Amino acid sequence: MSRACVIGSGPNGLAAAIVLAHAGLQVEVFEAEAEPGGATRTLPLTLPGFLHDFGSAVHPLAVGSPFFSTLPLGDYGLEWIHGDAPLAHPLDDGTAVVLERNLDDAGQALGADGRAWRSLMRSGIDHWKEFAEDAFAPPLVLPRHPLRMARFGLAAFQPAQMLAKTRFTTLRARALFAGLAGHSFLSFDQPLSSAIALVLGVAAHAVGWPIPRGGASAIPHALVSYLETLGGTVHTSRRIDAQALRELSCPLTLCDITPKQLIAIAGEQLTRGYRLLLEEFRHGLGAFKVDYALSDPVPWRAPECRRAITVHLGGTFEEIAASEHAVAQGRAAERPFVLVAQPTLFDPARAPKGKHVLWAYCHVPNGSTEDMTERIEAQIERFAPGFRDCVLARHVSSPAVLASMDANLVGGDVGGGAINVKQLFFRPTLRHYSTGTPNLYLCSASTPPGGGVHGMCGYHAAKLALRRMK
Ligand SMILES: Cc1cc2nc3c(=O)[nH]c(=O)nc-3n(C[C@H](O)[C@H](O)[C@H](O)COP(=O)(O)OP(=O)(O)OC[C@H]3O[C@@H](n4cnc5c(N)ncnc54)[C@H](O)[C@@H]3O)c2cc1C
Repeated sequence: MSRACVIGSGPNGLAAAIVLAHAGLQVEVFEAEAEPGGATRTLPLTLPGFLHDFGSAVHPLAVGSPFFSTLPLGDYGLEWIHGDAPLAHPLDDGTAVVLERNLDDAGQALGADGRAWRSLMRSGIDHWKEFAEDAFAPPLVLPRHPLRMARFGLAAFQPAQMLAKTRFTTLRARALFAGLAGHSFLSFDQPLSSAIALVLGVAAHAVGWPIPRGGASAIPHALVSYLETLGGTVHTSRRIDAQALRELSCPLTLCDITPKQLIAIAGEQLTRGYRLLLEEFRHGLGAFKVDYALSDPVPWRAPECRRAITVHLGGTFEEIAASEHAVAQGRAAERPFVLVAQPTLFDPARAPKGKHVLWAYCHVPNGSTEDMTERIEAQIERFAPGFRDCVLARHVSSPAVLASMDANLVGGDVGGGAINVKQLFFRPTLRHYSTGTPNLYLCSASTPPGGGVHGMCGYHAAKLALRRMK
């Protein structure tokens, strides 16, 4: 039986390992950190008994992943928990826009913009499986449903500012859309800033925005357990450097790492031209994150916020657009757009009885050293007066701290590289997974389809490697 090695055990590394093991290869995964999972890990960051998702928290892309959804992960401990609604977005008038899971209910709640919302989301929802297969495929591959993808592509390519202006008239629908577009890490005047908003919006209705019971770690734990039944092994606390890579002398190696690390580890095996292309690859904005241990649930002024696990803080479309624009211009925002997850409202075992955890982050320039703790708390307090009185402890993760916990989070970039028109196609080069060096492949979020917990980068990379082996 042939051997294969995977460097890194993030969701993409584990997905690649499973595809290779399914094909009968003897797979070994080497992970630098003490726990597998990469940016999908649950850690005791604050007080005893409080469990925090250090990276990803809410998983529409995992539950709706064309690959993960084919695996029996439920048999290996993965249980999804949904909130009453996928998302809430509070406003200064003391109310919140709630994105209902059911599309018709969502349309009704959005009043005058309900029809526009429904028509934007409908076709992806009715055909999620096919939509996801196309949306998570590498670019330049002919979609299975070209007409639907062409329609989606036309909307997705637009700057969020343009799409919101032409489709929505109400402050509430525009604010809701801004929160979704904020996940792009792009300024709203940039092309593609609508793309992730549309994917996440469609996913909210089609598959929901769930969390795994017990924390994000349940995803890699289930993947590792399943991999082990296929004969695969995961070695933790094994950082691979250039010498270790040589010593592995593996006939096939897939790397769940960024281009920067690939140069450091395998530079001598890469052609000069390919190395130069990798050096041009650009990372995206950084994240500044605070994890809280709380004595009570967040005292939202709008009670509807308690119906959702995810809450977007930033007010109107214009305010969120200004915040994202400032960051894209290299400045930390005074009133940042803050993404919040409140898992213990629906999964109480992650904190001692009656207590809660809260996950919050905002965007900052890549590698920023600015402390955003005060500004994040001011935004939470704005929509939940009295929040600070509930804080028992906090753990602050600057971009440097994030990168120290997972080397792929270069400068705090959570998506494995900037999303822009060039890097939609050149991710990290036009060859995508192939490095040009036989039997050495990239499979991290720095390859298509990019960031998020879906495993599809690993899946496509491993499939390509297997095709080439044959
Ligand atoms: C703060 C934050 C919030 C996020 N929120 C969400 C969310 O809510 N939902 C969502 O879908 N996504 C979210 N993401 C994004 C998501 O977590 C990532 O896109 C995803 O984890 C990428 O998977 P990956 O396998 O490509 O890389 P990673 O998960 O980063 O894994 C890479 C692994 O490789 C290891 N590694 C690196 N170098 C070496 C080496 N030399 N030797 C051995 N091992 C090595 C690392 O230690 C790491 O374990 C978030 C990320 C962060 C940081």
